[in-house]
Amino acid sequence: DTLVEWCVNRGYGGLENLSAIPGAAGAAPVQNIGAYGTEVKDVIEKVMAVSVTDGRIKEFSARDCRFGYRDSVFKNEEKGKWLITEVWFRLTTRPVFELGYSGLKDEAERLGGVTLRNIRQAVINIRGRKLPDPASTGNAGSFFKNPVLTNEAAELIRNKYPGVTLYPDPSGGVKVSAGWLIEQCGWKGRRIGDSGVWEKQALVLVNYGRATGREILELSEMISKSVYEKFGITLGREVEIVE
Ligand SMILES: Cc1cc2nc3c(=O)[nH]c(=O)nc-3n(C[C@H](O)[C@H](O)[C@H](O)COP(=O)(O)OP(=O)(O)OC[C@H]3O[C@@H](n4cnc5c(N)ncnc54)[C@H](O)[C@@H]3O)c2cc1C
Repeated sequence: DTLVEWCVNRGYGGLENLSAIPGAAGAAPVQNIGAYGTEVKDVIEKVMAVSVTDGRIKEFSARDCRFGYRDSVFKNEEKGKWLITEVWFRLTTRPVFELGYSGLKDEAERLGGVTLRNIRQAVINIRGRKLPDPASTGNAGSFFKNPVLTNEAAELIRNKYPGVTLYPDPSGGVKVSAGWLIEQCGWKGRRIGDSGVWEKQALVLVNYGRATGREILELSEMISKSVYEKFGITLGREVEIVE
């Protein structure tokens, strides 16, 4: 977020929708961080990395990174092999704002109009209203990815549940909101011991104090099971499990 703020303050557009995502710039390409219609891959030119085995330096073009939805080569075949030391961004002084996310434009307009600074602030405001602050309530952001369905599968769900939240996916399929699926299974706001599902965003699992990693994992497995039983959809994790 320090980098996003730095860019916005200098009038460089491209990263503003990624405001307030915790983490270091070097980690951003690993899972191709994204929010509010922007993915970091949209502005990454290249990534420089050092091999953890022999110290060799390698340049990965954006294409080499094989970015996907919360995914890259660094989470797959190159996992654990490289230390990212530089990320090169292609930003613009004439930003084309990404305002597709419902509510973002309205929030920016409430702040005085659609500008880089107002979009950043709008994202911060919206996130602040919906997401728990990790400084006070332990969480890792979205626990699950939004599943990508075939058009046929999405149509079946839409027919059965007209209120379902669906988005077109660049792959040609249709993304279904994992938060919506979890909410439909009655998990939103539920708490088991100190582990729970955030009351304002069902995609976020929280630790209210002394839950263990195992308890959070068990809660996530119960959620996945009920989503599978109700919708026949398998939820993939966005988080990494550290043994
Ligand atoms: C409240 C909250 C909200 C969040 N919101 C979002 C969101 O909107 N969108 C989103 O995409 N993510 C979101 N996240 C997830 C998180 O912020 C990202 O995954 C972030 O990129 C992690 O950064 P980090 O520096 O903490 O990396 P870590 O968690 O330390 O590492 C993540 C992975 O990257 C690897 N890694 C880290 N740095 C490097 C490096 N320099 N070289 C090679 N590998 C490296 C690690 O080995 C690990 O596998 C959110 C998290 C929280 C807590």
